[in-house]
Amino acid sequence: MGGLGSGRQAYKYEYTVEDCLSIKTGSIFQGKCNMPGSCRSGTLYWTIDGQRIGLVQYGVCLKLKSPYIVLQHNGNKTKISYSVFLSYTHPNFGGFRYWFNCPKCGKRVGKLYMAPGSKYFLCRQCQNLTYTSCRKSHSDDTIIKHMSSKTSLSWIEAKQAILDIRKVYRAEILEIRSHFINGRGFLESLTGKRQL
Ligand SMILES: [Zn+2]
Repeated sequence: MGGLGSGRQAYKYEYTVEDCLSIKTGSIFQGKCNMPGSCRSGTLYWTIDGQRIGLVQYGVCLKLKSPYIVLQHNGNKTKISYSVFLSYTHPNFGGFRYWFNCPKCGKRVGKLYMAPGSKYFLCRQCQNLTYTSCRKSHSDDTIIKHMSSKTSLSWIEAKQAILDIRKVYRAEILEIRSHFINGRGFLESLTGKRQL
């Protein structure tokens, strides 16, 4: 058991939720006019170090029977627009709480994600996303153990080395994502930059 490559997906890079752009219902519905029957539009954008890396325009239509939101953004180099159905619950304090129904699986969620290279905002499961803390606690331990057994590094030194590699990798992913969102080819930038 153990050892590099013995895990089921040891060589497949899995994105974490932190690698993605995300939209939460709170950013769209909290403190705004959410009366059934109302329609409105807005814009969401993301920045890194003051530079805009992504922008989504949306239109919300809160019809009582089938409320939905239309998202419009760049998805894999092309400008796309699609509807995401919404559902609502009635919280104890009154009013409505809105949820997204994932455009792929239909599951009710509070957050949708777009991973680097994907075209749509989907739920976490549909994109096989993990949380950083969850991935660290499982996969890193095996790699660290392997590293310290095959080199002269102590466990803590091996752990630091892994964290350093992850930091470089994360910066690279953010850079690739920004190229991709700005309309340049994702694969092109991936092959051009990935020479660690
Ligand atoms: Zn889904």
